[in-house]
Amino acid sequence: MIPVRTERRDPVRLLDKDMPRSSDIIRICSMCKQISTALNKWVEIEEGLAQLRLFEASEVPRLTHGLCPIIMADLDDSGPPNEAIDSDEE
Ligand SMILES: [Zn+2]
Repeated sequence: MIPVRTERRDPVRLLDKDMPRSSDIIRICSMCKQISTALNKWVEIEEGLAQLRLFEASEVPRLTHGLCPIIMADLDDSGPPNEAIDSDEE
Protein backbone atom coordinates (compact mmCIF):
# COMPACT_ATOMS: atom_id res chain seq x y z
CA MET A 1 0.00 0.00 0.00
CA ILE A 2 1.25 3.40 -0.83
CA PRO A 3 0.60 5.69 2.08
CA VAL A 4 -1.63 8.46 0.97
CA ARG A 5 -1.02 11.70 2.69
CA THR A 6 -4.28 13.37 3.43
CA GLU A 7 -4.51 16.80 4.83
CA ARG A 8 -6.58 16.83 7.97
CA ARG A 9 -9.17 19.48 7.59
CA ASP A 10 -12.50 19.90 9.24
CA PRO A 11 -15.30 19.38 6.80
CA VAL A 12 -16.42 22.72 5.59
CA ARG A 13 -20.11 22.50 6.07
CA LEU A 14 -20.62 25.72 4.23
CA LEU A 15 -19.54 23.98 1.04
CA ASP A 16 -21.57 20.85 1.69
CA LYS A 17 -24.35 20.66 -0.86
CA ASP A 18 -26.45 18.62 1.53
CA MET A 19 -26.48 21.19 4.31
CA PRO A 20 -29.79 22.96 4.87
CA ARG A 21 -29.58 26.57 3.82
CA SER A 22 -30.86 29.57 5.67
CA SER A 23 -32.10 32.69 3.93
CA ASP A 24 -28.81 34.45 4.59
CA ILE A 25 -26.33 34.86 1.80
CA ILE A 26 -22.58 34.79 2.14
CA ARG A 27 -20.19 35.93 -0.53
CA ILE A 28 -17.33 33.56 -1.16
CA CYS A 29 -14.29 34.30 -3.26
CA SER A 30 -14.13 32.02 -6.27
CA MET A 31 -10.35 32.11 -6.26
CA CYS A 32 -9.11 31.82 -2.70
CA LYS A 33 -12.29 30.71 -0.93
CA GLN A 34 -12.22 33.49 1.58
CA ILE A 35 -15.65 34.56 2.69
CA SER A 36 -17.03 37.98 3.34
CA THR A 37 -18.28 38.23 6.91
CA ALA A 38 -19.08 41.90 6.72
CA LEU A 39 -18.92 44.68 4.22
CA ASN A 40 -15.42 44.72 2.76
CA LYS A 41 -14.21 42.24 5.34
CA TRP A 42 -12.88 38.96 4.03
CA VAL A 43 -11.47 36.14 6.13
CA GLU A 44 -10.39 32.55 5.68
CA ILE A 45 -13.39 30.31 5.48
CA GLU A 46 -12.68 28.52 8.75
CA GLU A 47 -12.26 31.81 10.56
CA GLY A 48 -15.40 33.17 8.98
CA LEU A 49 -17.39 30.14 10.04
CA ALA A 50 -16.14 30.59 13.57
CA GLN A 51 -16.99 34.28 13.57
CA LEU A 52 -20.44 33.62 12.22
CA ARG A 53 -20.87 30.69 14.60
CA LEU A 54 -21.68 28.40 11.73
CA PHE A 55 -19.76 25.41 13.04
CA GLU A 56 -22.63 24.57 15.33
CA ALA A 57 -25.44 25.95 13.20
CA SER A 58 -28.01 23.51 11.87
CA GLU A 59 -28.28 25.42 8.66
CA VAL A 60 -25.78 27.52 6.76
CA PRO A 61 -26.17 30.56 4.55
CA ARG A 62 -26.46 30.31 0.82
CA LEU A 63 -23.35 31.10 -1.14
CA THR A 64 -22.84 33.65 -3.81
CA HIS A 65 -19.53 33.69 -5.61
CA GLY A 66 -17.41 36.72 -6.19
CA LEU A 67 -13.87 37.94 -5.97
CA CYS A 68 -12.28 39.31 -2.84
CA PRO A 69 -10.36 42.60 -2.99
CA ILE A 70 -7.04 40.76 -2.80
CA ILE A 71 -7.75 38.79 -5.93
CA MET A 72 -9.23 41.84 -7.59
CA ALA A 73 -6.04 43.78 -6.94
CA ASP A 74 -4.00 40.85 -8.14
CA LEU A 75 -5.98 40.68 -11.36
CA ASP A 76 -5.37 44.37 -11.87
CA ASP A 77 -1.63 43.90 -11.47
CA SER A 78 -1.32 40.90 -13.74
CA GLY A 79 -4.00 41.98 -16.13
CA PRO A 80 -3.56 42.67 -19.81
CA PRO A 81 -0.82 45.10 -20.78
CA ASN A 82 -1.58 48.75 -21.00
CA GLU A 83 -2.07 48.85 -24.73
CA ALA A 84 -5.80 49.23 -24.17
CA ILE A 85 -5.13 52.40 -22.25
CA ASP A 86 -3.36 53.99 -25.16
CA SER A 87 -3.36 57.72 -24.91
CA ASP A 88 -5.72 59.63 -27.11
CA GLU A 89 -3.80 62.80 -26.60
CA GLU A 90 -2.12 64.01 -29.73
ZN1 LIG B 1 -10.03 35.77 -2.87
